[in-house]
Amino acid sequence: MSRLIVVDFDGTITERDTLDEMCRIYAPEAWAAAENDLQRRTMTLREVIAAEFAPIVGDHDTIVSETVDRARVRAGFAGFVRAAEAAGDRVVVVSSGFESIIRPILEREGLGRLEVFAHDVRFTPEGGVVDFRHGEPCPVCGEECKRSVVDAMRNGREVVYVGDGYSDRCGAQAADVRFARGTLASYLDREGVRYISFDDFTTVRDALLGPGPA
Ligand SMILES: [Mg+2]
Ligand SMILES: [Zn+2]
Repeated sequence: MSRLIVVDFDGTITERDTLDEMCRIYAPEAWAAAENDLQRRTMTLREVIAAEFAPIVGDHDTIVSETVDRARVRAGFAGFVRAAEAAGDRVVVVSSGFESIIRPILEREGLGRLEVFAHDVRFTPEGGVVDFRHGEPCPVCGEECKRSVVDAMRNGREVVYVGDGYSDRCGAQAADVRFARGTLASYLDREGVRYISFDDFTTVRDALLGPGPA
């Protein structure tokens, strides 16, 4: 029976979070303030993202291409996707980040065919405008979270979740098998939820599909 494999993008498929990196480079003060609000839970994730990107002023194509050029994909990702597809699994990327950034990075890896559920951003001389596209207010966590996307696509299948951060908490809880690193791993530790640690996608592929060529 085929599985649904839900993979976060920033900090999971990429080695570093492209949203954090854009904010630190293009609007550092707003980024620090908004991250602090997220920690203190005075703003939702969606409000934090909008607040972080509003002060980023500039040419859209320039900011996008600089960000895409900086991004590095975690080892073994393309091979993992090919192996999962060969096994009949459905791989989807579910991100709280931006399609404008995600698409060209996946295309560079030869993975332009992957399904992507993400938001988007448009940078203008007046600031960045975020277009929120998915995630209903969640009855479990109260955020506009990824759980609704996972539930909508599950279709009776086993769900595998691969993630690293805050926006993955609730979606990972809803999955049957979890791969975690970063703050998602610390969160699942605190909650007593089982997961498999990963540093690259060779680990994920070997655990799900058995060892194969690099
Ligand atoms: Mg992430
Ligand atoms: Zn939720």
